[in-house]
Amino acid sequence: MAKQPRPIAGRVVAITGAARGIGRATAGALAREGATVAIGDLDVELARRTAEEIGVGAAAFELDVTDRDSFQRFVEDVETQLGPVDVLVNNAGIMPLGPFLAEDDATARRQVEVNVHGVLLGMKIVLPRLVARGRGHVVNIASAAGKAPYPGGATYCGTKHFVVGMSETVRGELRGSGVEMSVVMPVLVDTELATGVRTAWGVPRLAPEDVAEAIVQTLRRPRFDVFVPRSIGPLTVAGWLLPRAVRERVHRAIRADRVLADVDAGARHAYELRVARSEPALSPGAEVELSEARR
Ligand code: NDP
Repeated sequence: MAKQPRPIAGRVVAITGAARGIGRATAGALAREGATVAIGDLDVELARRTAEEIGVGAAAFELDVTDRDSFQRFVEDVETQLGPVDVLVNNAGIMPLGPFLAEDDATARRQVEVNVHGVLLGMKIVLPRLVARGRGHVVNIASAAGKAPYPGGATYCGTKHFVVGMSETVRGELRGSGVEMSVVMPVLVDTELATGVRTAWGVPRLAPEDVAEAIVQTLRRPRFDVFVPRSIGPLTVAGWLLPRAVRERVHRAIRADRVLADVDAGARHAYELRVARSEPALSPGAEVELSEARR
């Protein structure tokens, strides 16, 4: 007999980087389903506006996912104000682009800090609480770039491969604990992060709401691999059965190898500056020099 879907209403969901983009759409979709959502973001003013726009069931919190104290405070404040966290969505992520050999160390480190350590910290702080209660769900937002190579985004792809591999391993450690793990792997989604990036031939460009809907479905009926759209799952697996040379030829034929390489740098400029300025050490509005590769 098919398992009953699990209700969303009444669950407390903490979402990182939810002031905009996919996190914001997810917060809105879950609040509409009756969940209470905690919107954590570096930009707390924007998080507050987002929470106000979502309305009932949404609250904003300051959060820097790269800082253990900040993450700890976030979770404690959420639990004090909203109740025990049932679901953590590790969504915050950055994607500065450029050729690998032109990437400066600070840009690489920042991606690892946010996309890797941000996810690790969230799991290390929230999972003990979920395991102690014998229930809960951690949803890590990786990417299709966590399963395939995209030149122009080597470090980004590396961080997303990390999230996939680490999540799969922790899932093994959690077996029997009652806690669910999922990893979400969308193709290109229309957010500021993907500004000036063209999708590969035959691959749709998603709206943030498409990813939000996939997350809602995953919380209802837990599964580990969440490809968005669902159809890229079997295609990805089929690709691994091909010899490497053939797989790479197909990748090039649909121009997937150019997706993160042939970007509109002018259109991306504002995003690249925002990401560079997201260093907490920098005062808001500080002048930031983008490296040659990211101008
Ligand atoms: P956006 O840039 O639209 O939103 C990301 C949010 O994360 C922003 O609000 C940003 O805050 C916040 N953030 C960044 N750094 C931190 C930090 N240190 N602590 C807390 N919050 C932070 O991106 P998307 O919505 O597109 O991306 C969300 C996730 O989805 C990312 O992990 C991304 O890699 C993944 N993804 C995106 C795809 C796409 O094509 N858009 C495709 C596949 C996966 P601030 O505004 O202050 O910078």
